[in-house]
Amino acid sequence: MNTRTDRVVIVGAGLAGVGVARGLRQSGHTGPITLLGDEAHPPYDRPPLSKQYLLDGDEAALRLSPEPLPDVALLTGCAVTSVDVAGRTVRRQDGSVLDWDRLVFATGTRPRQLETLAASHRVTPLRTLDDARRIRQHLRPGARLLVIGGGPIGLELAATAQQLGTHATVVEAAERLMGRSAPALIAKHLLRHHRAQGVNVHLGRSVVSVDDGGLVTLDDGHTEHADLVVVGIGVVANDTLAIAAGIATEDGILVDGHGRTNAPGVYAAGDVTRHRHPLSGRIERIETWANAQGQAAAVAAAMVDPDGAPPYGDTPWYWSDQGSLRLQCAGLVQGDTQALRGDPDSGSFVLLQWQADRLCGVAAVNAVRDFNPLRRLIAVGCTLTPEQLTAPGVNLKQIAQSTHPA
Ligand code: FAD
Ligand code: NAD
Repeated sequence: MNTRTDRVVIVGAGLAGVGVARGLRQSGHTGPITLLGDEAHPPYDRPPLSKQYLLDGDEAALRLSPEPLPDVALLTGCAVTSVDVAGRTVRRQDGSVLDWDRLVFATGTRPRQLETLAASHRVTPLRTLDDARRIRQHLRPGARLLVIGGGPIGLELAATAQQLGTHATVVEAAERLMGRSAPALIAKHLLRHHRAQGVNVHLGRSVVSVDDGGLVTLDDGHTEHADLVVVGIGVVANDTLAIAAGIATEDGILVDGHGRTNAPGVYAAGDVTRHRHPLSGRIERIETWANAQGQAAAVAAAMVDPDGAPPYGDTPWYWSDQGSLRLQCAGLVQGDTQALRGDPDSGSFVLLQWQADRLCGVAAVNAVRDFNPLRRLIAVGCTLTPEQLTAPGVNLKQIAQSTHPA
């Protein structure tokens, strides 16, 4: 194996797949790279699909790589249907077979479905450009949208719908919003924000049926009409190809800090992976744009220079634009100590959290300037106290620049 000249095949042409291809070239890989995607579209970015794209319909702005990737064979519109690890081949839906020396899974995730509603023509997920095109057609003034799930997908979509004059309802099964990804205090703030914007939020409820006329029935018997129902109740990993190929998985492909699976020459990157969270130490799937991008770059570097490249260990973070509210979170959702910087009633504040006296989590609401310095402070293991980081007038940027890893 020559790590600079061997044949690389990447399965999945989303953010992580494109990132690995680009990263390989940037790291000096000169061998053939083939990027295989099952969607018909050239690679595109997903975050705008619940926000800006629904407002402006600008598909060109979604392109992940407006210029062709340097010397990468991009084959779209055809799924990979099997992987042979021993024979080092992949087979595509059209029957064609490709040889590889090293293979990368970048197959992402797919939306969890509600089996009881899946057949209804009024129900759709939101993952792909095709989903977003369909949803966009329904977001008209006076129309009614019902979203199942009060996570980032549901809340971003509800906020965008309201901006377009569509009445939005959110039905969340838990007693709070964003249970997986934001602290409880932030969830309360989001609830107030969305209700103030006119979004109708039902907590602790689920949808039992949607009839052909758009009558939606909740588990407490409450009914509502909806022109469209969008299901945003989380995702599952696209790891069935890897399972069939005998690669170790656990709702996600298990990888080390270099993106290596348990099969020699086989790597994975992005949403589909499960790897060590740098703060919790747990083996997790980290479903964020920043993880897909950062991990892809790290995996590419390690593929070219296995001995020299540092393992991937970026502090996980994400943003979520929900109408006029920008939420940015980094690190852990839950610590043992909390402190506020700023006043939630002002609409701009940060919730900071500590675990065993180290800053471990930050959730910033419309506080963009504070976010990056605090994210860096988490990464370096900052032990400054709540008083030191929340004192009025404290210059976070300066502190972040002068604090070095503990
Ligand atoms: P994906 O983007 O899922 O790409 C994987 C690709 O592989 C897909 O095109 C898939 O069809 C393809 N594929 C799968 N199986 C095969 C096969 N057998 N053969 C060929 N191709 C295959 N994150 C944030 O941090 N902030 C945000 O604001 C944000 N907004 C989002 C909004 C929406 C609507 C969605 C859906 C996601 C959002 N995310 C956001 C999450 C972020 O987009 C994902 O974390 C990121 O797209 C993951 O990239 P990926 O390349 O790992 O996977
Ligand atoms: P999620 O897992 O974050 O949230 C799903 C929500 O649905 C949870 O609040 C859960 O309690 C609720 N739920 C589950 N089953 C339910 C049911 N039967 N009825 C009602 N509610 C139910 O997932 P998501 O919001 O669907 O997002 C999907 C993916 O997209 C994730 O990977 C996410 O990270 C990504 N995404 C990220 C962003 C962002 O970071 N800004 C934005 C959009 C999407």
